[in-house]
Amino acid sequence: MNLDHSHALFTRAQTLLPGGVNSPVRAFKSVGGEPFFVQRAEGPYLFDVDGNRYIDYVGSWGPMIVGHNHPKVLQSVIDTARNGLSFGTPNPLEVTMAETITQLIPSCEMVRMVNSGTEATLSAIRLARGATGRMKIVKFEGCYHGHGDSFLVKAGSGALTFGVPTSPGVPKALADLTLTLPYNDFDAATHLFDDCGSDIAALIIEPVVGNANCLPPRDGYLQHLRALCTQHGALLIFDEVMTGFRVALGGAQARYGVVPDLSTFGKIIGGGMPVGAYGGRRDLMQQIAPRGPIYQAGTLSGNPVAMAAGLAMLALIQAPGFYDALEAKTHALCDGLEAAAHDAGVAFTTQRVGGMFGMFFSSERVDTYAQAMACDNAAFNRFFHAMRERGVYLAPSAFEAGFMSIAHTDEVIIDTIAAARAAFQVL
Ligand code: PMP
Repeated sequence: MNLDHSHALFTRAQTLLPGGVNSPVRAFKSVGGEPFFVQRAEGPYLFDVDGNRYIDYVGSWGPMIVGHNHPKVLQSVIDTARNGLSFGTPNPLEVTMAETITQLIPSCEMVRMVNSGTEATLSAIRLARGATGRMKIVKFEGCYHGHGDSFLVKAGSGALTFGVPTSPGVPKALADLTLTLPYNDFDAATHLFDDCGSDIAALIIEPVVGNANCLPPRDGYLQHLRALCTQHGALLIFDEVMTGFRVALGGAQARYGVVPDLSTFGKIIGGGMPVGAYGGRRDLMQQIAPRGPIYQAGTLSGNPVAMAAGLAMLALIQAPGFYDALEAKTHALCDGLEAAAHDAGVAFTTQRVGGMFGMFFSSERVDTYAQAMACDNAAFNRFFHAMRERGVYLAPSAFEAGFMSIAHTDEVIIDTIAAARAAFQVL
């Protein structure tokens, strides 16, 4: 596979951008080697600057659930952009977006649009702290909630890949207010709340962890956390930046039947444009400025072009049968990968929820962060490269979930499994 143009770009980029990239995991540090630079994307495919085509299971880290460059999303962006790119005033699409989100996610009685998942989670914990008057927050080992100071404590995703448990530059005084728990451990959560429940403003969780590979909640776990938060007067925040509109139309909260007080959403709402949102109970959201005293703002928030892209995408995913079809594709892929690994004698298992999935080089089910860390992640790295050489792009880290799109046809999935058969043989 010729990667000359990518190599030349990466060489230039490394003198100009830290690590040659604008977001760490893109640099392939975890899997080794160099990233490829993408020229364009269409449906399930990425095309790099050297003309190579890849079947894409990253989907811009989740948002491309209807496939890349969907004609309806593109048309909506073009039509809206003709009227101007940003006004700095309210625009009608913000209202339609708020109506759409509150209708699809009933726990969100009000929402505020922001520009990234990081902004959404930062804003949600400020609201939680402001509303409860408490300062401690609880998060889970291996969960990633963006790069806000309070969250870079035992974080997942890039922070995990780079082995930085708590980043330099995060004030200790702030990190001390972030308490961490092992995910899927019922007793640890009970004990923590017994110890200091009355100091906890909020517990924030990825209801299906997607930043330490893909870890679904054990039966009753989210309900357990809901009960603890209610009992101790802490707010439950579901970070649905990955799971929102992906594991079900109504997100993880609909799939598992647990109602959080606040929810955060990200990239998927923008259909590929830079968008995030947070929302929740009306009595809480009304405490946000200018209605209330808790400050949060954004010059580009609710940007009309971003809203247009997101609304077009949100319309497409409401088609009848969309999520059944998406889930069937995820199952077909995962079953095929497992069969291919089995035939090659490789210890390998998958976990899937709706349109997201994880691949583990382990023969057993993986429920916890510690188990995810203990998998043969060097084997994943070899598999990643073997797949890439065969035209399949997986997330470049063993600690990231994979994302299916509705544009991945049966044929594309069969091609992926054929590539995996060959890749498992050469591991
Ligand atoms: N929360 C979760 C669950 C995420 O997966 C991410 C990013 N992948 C974020 C928050 C941060 O979002 P962003 O990168 O848009 O700031």
